Amino acid sequence: MELRFLGGASKVGSLGMTLTDGPRKLLFDYGMTPSDPPEYPLPIPPGITHAFISHAHLDHIGMAPLITRDGANAFATHMTRQLAELMLEDALKVARLEGYPSQYSNHDVRHLLGRLRAVEPEGTVSVGGAEVSLTPAGHVPGATMFLYRGSRDVLFTGDVQSHPTHLVGGWKPVPCDVLVMESTYAGKEHEDRALTEERLRQSVMAVVDRGGQVLLPAFAMGRSQELMMVLEDLDLEIWIDGMARAVCDIYDRNRSVLRDPRAFKRALSRVEIVQEAAERHDALRYADVILTPSGMLDGGPSLFYLGTIAKDPKSAVFLSGYQVEGSNGRDLVEKGTLTVGGVTVRPTCQVEKFDFSAHAGHSDLLELARQTHPKTVVLMHGDQREVLRADLEKEFEVILPTEGTGTEL
Ligand SMILES: [Zn+2]
Repeated sequence: MELRFLGGASKVGSLGMTLTDGPRKLLFDYGMTPSDPPEYPLPIPPGITHAFISHAHLDHIGMAPLITRDGANAFATHMTRQLAELMLEDALKVARLEGYPSQYSNHDVRHLLGRLRAVEPEGTVSVGGAEVSLTPAGHVPGATMFLYRGSRDVLFTGDVQSHPTHLVGGWKPVPCDVLVMESTYAGKEHEDRALTEERLRQSVMAVVDRGGQVLLPAFAMGRSQELMMVLEDLDLEIWIDGMARAVCDIYDRNRSVLRDPRAFKRALSRVEIVQEAAERHDALRYADVILTPSGMLDGGPSLFYLGTIAKDPKSAVFLSGYQVEGSNGRDLVEKGTLTVGGVTVRPTCQVEKFDFSAHAGHSDLLELARQTHPKTVVLMHGDQREVLRADLEKEFEVILPTEGTGTEL
């Protein structure tokens, strides 16, 4: 059996992994990194028959329209299948706006959606005499791990999270021979989630009590809805803008896979949705909290709201996710500056950062390895993998693959 990474082995982003076992040639995830310029994985080798998409974040699905060009079948959960359309159409739009050549056409997106089969959250797919089973990954609604059962049992994690959040229950690990594990947070631990939530709630109320507004820039898929639920029972007027609105609709249509469908429905019924650009002025007039992409303040409606909120010392910008080097969010936290349209300004509003990561921390990843009892752990999707290897090596054989080279198992 051979594993080969097309991308996303030694860094977070553009993930793609092929698994060859006798006559079977499978692909797991095929994403892109929406950086400036964007990064792409190596081309798909010929002969792939089945492809599996763990979830709809762009670094896992962003290049998926190329999978089905050569006739492969693709599989994902119902939720991921519905989010795929939204995410890929948005990726095409962003490529057009930013002037980067798109790697595929609208036709390729349609073709993929035609061949992307929806599988139940714990369902099984036959692949030429072997099987691939799904098991929940936590992370975001619809996210799954894949267990390949062939000459060896290989568990591909995609992105994982151990603990339940408002949106999803935690992961459900299953035994395997080879664990192919993400390592985004290798070497890092998260603050206790309940404490982070309480800190956010108190900070938001403090801003509102002094007459300010809170801008919560957040990723459209997952984070925005999670924050909406964290703030749900406070006496606040919350407005939601950008692609987060469409994701709310898809979650609402698939409420049964959410951890607490009724709580989601209640939270959604309490927020105001910005239906068109003209209503953004209303949001600035009436909202206590505005939830909108982009989460790193590099585009989307968040830039419009910043124009007003950044200048108001009573107001605040609360960042809730990872801020990539060079992003406005990172500059705001580290240097206190923002650059919009080539002009750098120094906001006078309050700025604070909260860790709402949807990834497992270092000790959670060790725990996942212990719970799945593998002989071999293959670490991927991380730029600090050595720290995790040092801890894992005491109990397991550990492999750190690089992009483009095959690993024989
Ligand atoms: Zn993800």
